[in-house]
Amino acid sequence: MSVNRHQQLRQLPSVDALLSSMQDELAQWGHAQLTRAISQQLSELRAEITAGNTPGISPEGIRQSVVAALTERSNASLIPVFNLTGTVLHTNLGRANLPEEAINAIRKVAAGASNLEYDLESGKRGDRESHVEALICEMTGAEAATAVNNNAAAVLLVLNTLAMGHKVPVSRGELVEIGGSFRIPEVMSRSGAILVEVGATNRTHLKDYRSVIDDDTALLMKVHTSNYTVEGFTACVSEPDLAALAREYQLPFVIDLGSGNLVDFEALGLPAEPTAAEALANGADLVTFSGDKLLGGPQAGLIAGRADLVAMIKKNPLKRALRLDKMTLAALAEILKLYRNPEQLTCKLPTLRLLTRNPADIRAQAENLLFRVARCLDTRYRVSVADCLSQIGSGSLPVETLPSAALKIEPLSGKDSELRELAEQLRRLPMPVIARLHRGALWLDLRCLEPEHEAAFASQMEALVP
Ligand SMILES: *Cc1c(COP(=O)(O)O)cnc(C)c1O
Repeated sequence: MSVNRHQQLRQLPSVDALLSSMQDELAQWGHAQLTRAISQQLSELRAEITAGNTPGISPEGIRQSVVAALTERSNASLIPVFNLTGTVLHTNLGRANLPEEAINAIRKVAAGASNLEYDLESGKRGDRESHVEALICEMTGAEAATAVNNNAAAVLLVLNTLAMGHKVPVSRGELVEIGGSFRIPEVMSRSGAILVEVGATNRTHLKDYRSVIDDDTALLMKVHTSNYTVEGFTACVSEPDLAALAREYQLPFVIDLGSGNLVDFEALGLPAEPTAAEALANGADLVTFSGDKLLGGPQAGLIAGRADLVAMIKKNPLKRALRLDKMTLAALAEILKLYRNPEQLTCKLPTLRLLTRNPADIRAQAENLLFRVARCLDTRYRVSVADCLSQIGSGSLPVETLPSAALKIEPLSGKDSELRELAEQLRRLPMPVIARLHRGALWLDLRCLEPEHEAAFASQMEALVP
């Protein structure tokens, strides 16, 4: 090693010297964290010097690097983004956006003690689900209800409670995989239930179910094929027919609705989606559905139906492992209360507000933003307003799309690499912008850019350095 390098290494300030010159930082970050960051910085500098480089080693320079490293480390990892993918309920982007009512309710119970499991009348222990059960019953017409961590947990709990060690026939056309990690056959086996495949992928008949029912059958189950459709030569058994067959054999009939929904979507101008009330009226003994799909609430799984079955579910020890926390319960209660006034839903509930946005309004918004966005992109790109189709997402109404409008960004060179570069730049913004790469263009579908966030979006784009 050259004399010069030895000299440089010797000139590095000591940890103690740096520490004593950083009293404010010491108060802010604490001794242990600050010492670790300084040591880390010094060992990086030592490695650089040893490698033959000549990094700056002034105490002030080192201090700045230490502060930068600590600040970077303390930045939140989970942060808000602009969802301009055109998929309203985007699982990877957190699904439903909550309304103010739900957020306020979360804030209140999060900050202090609450009557989560405390009956204020009697002064005795209460039931955490009492805060949502009556509301779920009110909205679905069910006798009883409960709620757990998500719909996957709801399905697991129902099967484990009612079918552990016993057979559950399910149509081959309904053995779905949702989002890669939830597959009906796998959840079924983890629940301890034994899957009996019924019929064929495209066609299942009532006689197919009848032929597999035996003494060991625990229940009949129907799964909403949320994220795909079987088209062409198809047949499936209707809910009322399957319910009648279940009654004939005195078996519970369970429907996993997937997204589930509480209001008439067609009345809102959206594609029809079965409601939980309809499924129960069609003879289901239990239905399960998600809290954060079309319902528009927090992540949760709702179970509604016959009181005796719900009581068994509540007694299952697994229920404790899958139960909801107070913040989710508080938010869910507020969401369910919004459903008492269906006329206001498309204004008050963000999910339904976004799904029912008028395409003409979205286009006007795009035209409004066109100049500002075009101006801040460098000369390699052309920006235009284009019609596009949004998706509902989360496996809800898979083949249905909603007319929308986008800022369409194309590279003048026609090179996809330039688009990917821009997409990456957008993802690195303080509030990352998530767009969709499609057919040689980057599409910024504005359906989910609510007017009150428009200004923040535009000024962030203007800060893009080409
Ligand atoms: C989405 C879905 C699930 C899983 O629901 P999560 O709330 O995401 O756990 C289960 N079954 C069906 C049919 C679904 O569509």
